[in-house]
Amino acid sequence: MIDLKSLEVWFVTGSQHLYGEATLKKVAEHSQEISKALNASAQIPVSIVFKPVLKTPEEVLSLFIEANAARNCIGIITWCHTFSPSKMWINGLKISQKPHLHLHTQYNKDLPWNEIDMDFMNLNQAAHGDREHGFIMTRLRMNRKVVVGHWSEEEVQERISVWSRAAAAWYDFQNLKVARFGDNMRQVAVTEGDKVEAQIQFGMAVNGYGVGDLVKLINGVSDADIDKLFEEYNDTYTIAAAGQKGGSYHENVRYQARIELALKGFMADGGFGAYTNTFEDLHGMAQLPGLATQRLMAAGYGFGAEGDWKHAALVRALKVMGQGLKGGCSFMEDYTYDLDPMTGKVLGAHMLEVCPSIASGKPTLEVHPLGIGGKDAPARLVFNTPAVPAINASLIDMGNRFRMIVNPVDCIVPEALPKLPVARALWTPQPSLKVGAAAWIYAGGAHHTAFSQAITAEYMEDFTNMAGIEYLEINNSTTISDFKKELRWNEIYYMLSNGVK
Ligand code: MN
Repeated sequence: MIDLKSLEVWFVTGSQHLYGEATLKKVAEHSQEISKALNASAQIPVSIVFKPVLKTPEEVLSLFIEANAARNCIGIITWCHTFSPSKMWINGLKISQKPHLHLHTQYNKDLPWNEIDMDFMNLNQAAHGDREHGFIMTRLRMNRKVVVGHWSEEEVQERISVWSRAAAAWYDFQNLKVARFGDNMRQVAVTEGDKVEAQIQFGMAVNGYGVGDLVKLINGVSDADIDKLFEEYNDTYTIAAAGQKGGSYHENVRYQARIELALKGFMADGGFGAYTNTFEDLHGMAQLPGLATQRLMAAGYGFGAEGDWKHAALVRALKVMGQGLKGGCSFMEDYTYDLDPMTGKVLGAHMLEVCPSIASGKPTLEVHPLGIGGKDAPARLVFNTPAVPAINASLIDMGNRFRMIVNPVDCIVPEALPKLPVARALWTPQPSLKVGAAAWIYAGGAHHTAFSQAITAEYMEDFTNMAGIEYLEINNSTTISDFKKELRWNEIYYMLSNGVK
């Protein structure tokens, strides 16, 4: 999908000339050792690159000019081992376009009670040096993540890892191309939005393409390529009898293979990372893409149904964040409820398009008629999802800003669903269905979400901070009355916040 190790986070240490050469040499040695350890950490998936210690305003400014121009620099970690007067950071920080993590650490972990002298105190002074550094970032109203603790600590490296994965997704988002086949589903509001504003805010480009262009590719796929892909299906899934060679629905499965190969070619040729389609505009296609879309998502592409480009992009971002971690990510929809007053649950699914990366066990490949759309019976993968924690994330357009809503959920293995031939997930939203769904609805969250078992809400908070948009989390601490206040306060904050910078 994206080679995370090819992305760089720069490790930058602030100091000044006051301390003399010997101390500065020590500062450089120590920060090299820390950046090396972080780079070697099995938890951190990106490259951590040491940069020479900054001692003057000119050096600070040069560093940020260089970082802005470095395409593979996805973020900057700063740390002040010694005191680095912050006025010398202003001009550099002011132009910085990269995500920031302020690592409030210390080279030494324990206080060496018997040996400690003033030289030690003057070298290991992040306790106050980093406060000066924090002030200037706060004074500049900069979004950043602050991580506190010894750099060797697993928990500290985990916080850095989360942030670096969010930064990788933010890097990808800014360069993302989303292809849309057909427009928004008629009359639907929440999947609409301002694509010009989205490109200004996020960098991603969302553009429409004629379904006919895709149909031409679909019709041009060779039988030999379809034969080969069918064998892959046979190796990967349990294909129901009707879909097997000689079965009544075999041609329907082959048609999805045709769509998959055409779509994959289209995405690769155009450099797209996500796409949308709509069942209202499938002219020239015999089936709604089901299996094809499921498999493209599993290959790392973002997808949104009914023209939902915001969630197509979001699925892609969550896939980048969770790359290599345990658990998958999918486009999802809150479909129907179990309204038990104590254990209320959501059955999540879509007509077809749920990614098999979230499946428990081997999916079955089945063909069934679809009630809407008026096309041939589409092939799709059917599976359950495991009882693990997950999150649902939704991105909506509030008119004057984008809002991200995130809700951790606890998944449950559903009972047998013999008459429901679609992939599905069953969960209880935190803190409960009653509070979780009410808060979600007050926030205006969509029925579509990006669903991930691989990441937590912390990734989304970091990502949203980098994007500079509103973040709302519904979790076990949420109460409706506080949440409603947060919504009201945010209205004022986002109206005024651009004015105080
Ligand atoms: Mn939908």
